[in-house]
Amino acid sequence: MTRSISSLLRLMMFSLILGVLLVRPAYAGVAEAAEQDSAASHDEGSRVDESMDDEAVEDIDASMQDKDKLKKPVKKDKKSKGSQKATKIAPNIDLKEVAPTPVIIEDDNLVDEAAAEPKTSSEPTDLVSPSTEELPEKAVNESITLFNTEVLPNTSTRLAWSSGIQIAGLAQPTPVLVVNGAHPGPTLCLTASIHGDELNGIEIIRRTVYDLDPKELSGTVIGIPIVNLQGFQQGSRYLPDRRDLNRHFPGTPTGSLADRVAYSLFQQVIVNCDMLVDIHTGSFRRNNLPQLRADMHIEDVASLTRGFDGIAVVHSVGNPGMLRSAAVDAGIVAVTLEVGESLRIQEDEIKAGVKSLNSLMEKQKMISRLFVWGQPETIYYNSYWLRAEHGGILFSEVELGDSVKKGDILGTVSDPITNTEYPIVANTAGRIIGMAVDQVVMAGFAAYHLGTEAEIPPEKEKALINSKKSANLMLSD
Ligand SMILES: [Zn+2]
Repeated sequence: MTRSISSLLRLMMFSLILGVLLVRPAYAGVAEAAEQDSAASHDEGSRVDESMDDEAVEDIDASMQDKDKLKKPVKKDKKSKGSQKATKIAPNIDLKEVAPTPVIIEDDNLVDEAAAEPKTSSEPTDLVSPSTEELPEKAVNESITLFNTEVLPNTSTRLAWSSGIQIAGLAQPTPVLVVNGAHPGPTLCLTASIHGDELNGIEIIRRTVYDLDPKELSGTVIGIPIVNLQGFQQGSRYLPDRRDLNRHFPGTPTGSLADRVAYSLFQQVIVNCDMLVDIHTGSFRRNNLPQLRADMHIEDVASLTRGFDGIAVVHSVGNPGMLRSAAVDAGIVAVTLEVGESLRIQEDEIKAGVKSLNSLMEKQKMISRLFVWGQPETIYYNSYWLRAEHGGILFSEVELGDSVKKGDILGTVSDPITNTEYPIVANTAGRIIGMAVDQVVMAGFAAYHLGTEAEIPPEKEKALINSKKSANLMLSD
């Protein structure tokens, strides 16, 4: 079982690389459509902040369909006698081991073959957790049950989520890493690659979760490194039905494919979380400074942002259908963590993301490390996009993270035919929190995401609570 999973993962990586190479040309076409969408939101003075990361692009280049003809191994679920009863996981299973499951819920007779293997030492018997006895001075955590599997305290394990809507024999479960600490505490969920072409978050979750020691952890960490596995395999932002999954939360069991996938993830995993960090990157060849997107009108959310070490926090109400918005509506304290650019693995951004999550866990008293805090104060931003007024080739003069003054030239758009140069000028002082990489652009292209420092986190402006319209107006100020 373990071996077949690891060979599957290797194949996934290979198909990803192939997918990336083949998909790249398709993005030129998509970007324009995305731009139209963001231009519309800019005019409304709303959703500006999220527009570059969560566009709802309806049409996608037809060439996307030609890529990645790799055959994926299809594993038949082996039938074995088993029950639907929650399976207990032995303490201290390593994340590299796959826990018994996934259980196919519809069929009483189907249990993953791993359940039958004695190697996993996971017989559903009464197991004594030895490590909890070693720590008498602290309270003992409880088990957590996910996918009909009970994960005991002081245990780390790997489960699998399947939305259950694939053709039965082709179901491809998504790995879910669970570290259930020895001590009680909150449940922190980490999700990445909801947009399948966003890779930094996958690595951020790997480093963060594998660095945890269940003995030392208070609470539970649930990491889903690759939510949109099919998009990931194809190097695509979207689901196979070309929909943006991050527009369909919390989902419905009777809607579109995206609605159903969203519903399954939300009901099976997300509802178990107290806190959620959904990790994204800039889209369509735009790079984001590591930053949180958070609805600062919600006090718990604003309070959570203060747990991140010195990271830029951009106030954003969020769009309907986003995982962050749906989670907040369900009472889960949720933020989006933006790091870098899609289709790339960026070491510095990944390190910043890992550091952020560690600082959060430390602040939440989930871990205790000698964490060196960088900046004592979180910096809050409102933000808006500066757009190219002319088509041509964009050459930037600023870098991500730069502070700029009003009147500074951020870059120029150069018309390759007429040899005319059009500067893009900052119309206010601020910081470059997101920007396009040099490329061919059309008029209206959102080139620079400028963050303007907010005096105070606006969460105390109670008058604006529950009024998304007002919040957006405030953003455009
Ligand atoms: Zn994204």
